[in-house]
Amino acid sequence: MSLNNGQSLTVGGQDFTKNGGNSSRPPWEDARAVLRPSTPTRKPKSPKPENAITIAVSSRVLFNMEKEQHIYEQQGMEEYIKYQVEHETEAFSPGPAFSFVKALEAVNAKLRELYPESEELFDVVLMTNNHANVGLRLINTINHHQLFIERFCMTGGNSPIGYLKAYHTNLYLSADPVKVREALAEGIAAAIMFTPEKMKEVSDTQLRVAFDGDAVLFSDESERICKAHGLDKFFEHEKAHENKPLDHGPLKGFLEVLGKLQKKFYGKGQRLDCPIRTYLVTARSAASSGTRALKTLRSWGLEIDEALFLAGAPKGPMLEKIRPHIFFDDQMFHVEGAAEMGTVACHVPYGIAQRVVKKGTKDKETPNASK
Ligand SMILES: [Mg+2]
Repeated sequence: MSLNNGQSLTVGGQDFTKNGGNSSRPPWEDARAVLRPSTPTRKPKSPKPENAITIAVSSRVLFNMEKEQHIYEQQGMEEYIKYQVEHETEAFSPGPAFSFVKALEAVNAKLRELYPESEELFDVVLMTNNHANVGLRLINTINHHQLFIERFCMTGGNSPIGYLKAYHTNLYLSADPVKVREALAEGIAAAIMFTPEKMKEVSDTQLRVAFDGDAVLFSDESERICKAHGLDKFFEHEKAHENKPLDHGPLKGFLEVLGKLQKKFYGKGQRLDCPIRTYLVTARSAASSGTRALKTLRSWGLEIDEALFLAGAPKGPMLEKIRPHIFFDDQMFHVEGAAEMGTVACHVPYGIAQRVVKKGTKDKETPNASK
């Protein structure tokens, strides 16, 4: 296995990341053919990217690679690769995205039972800019944890945008703020994932996803009023525009695809025990500004299972009760508050709030061995 021009992974001369030579097969088919020998046979066929709901996760959020990251930072790339090769048969422990990915697989299993022919399933793509030698440890880890990941994307340090688009990515999760911002700028739903000190146990039968409203599901248009003119003017504005739907925000598309899958369960009589549950967790208050949020969702034809209007109260304690697999917010203090209480929280660096960053809460943009 070698790195070709330091950019694309090749195995026995076969290009992992590009559609090499005269082959008419897409690159993921090539990767599958190479991976198959070490892949347990229990796995069903992957859906085609255009039919699937594609979730791209970086290796550093799927697995805990903190120790290795530390080696890279302290001792450099050569020692890092040496360590990874020496520990090749040792599986990485789960990272913050692990439970989420497991929950996606649990939903897929139920969808396959109900709709054996349908390709409307989650498909997880592992994104990594790691060295090819580390790729082997990643494959071993995936098999060790019996994860259903057949699509690998080794970007060799290149921007992941082209790959994210090629895979029709519906959500991209990474620890790298630069790549996440780049994806958001291209209209791809993306978020920076953080590892809480202690992760709360989450459901392994129901996927729970919690969203902030403004600048996450919705645009930041109302947030701008709030930041510029204060809370009173914001309430006034929201009341006056109650019947005018908000524009969509960066994560709206992801809620939409979750809703599409939920409807498939409803169609089989599984509304109350649906394996997907969605939550709106917003600092808006129900009486004054909540109406516009709910009317906006309704105008989009989207349902949210539970809407929590916290009227400025901290989100951490409420999320601790919900125990979502993942929570998205555009404001770092909400992300930090949630993470402190054990929720896997992601920062969506989008909208006006990014320009009003509290001291000490900026994303840390440190060099990384892997993302
Ligand atoms: Mg917000």
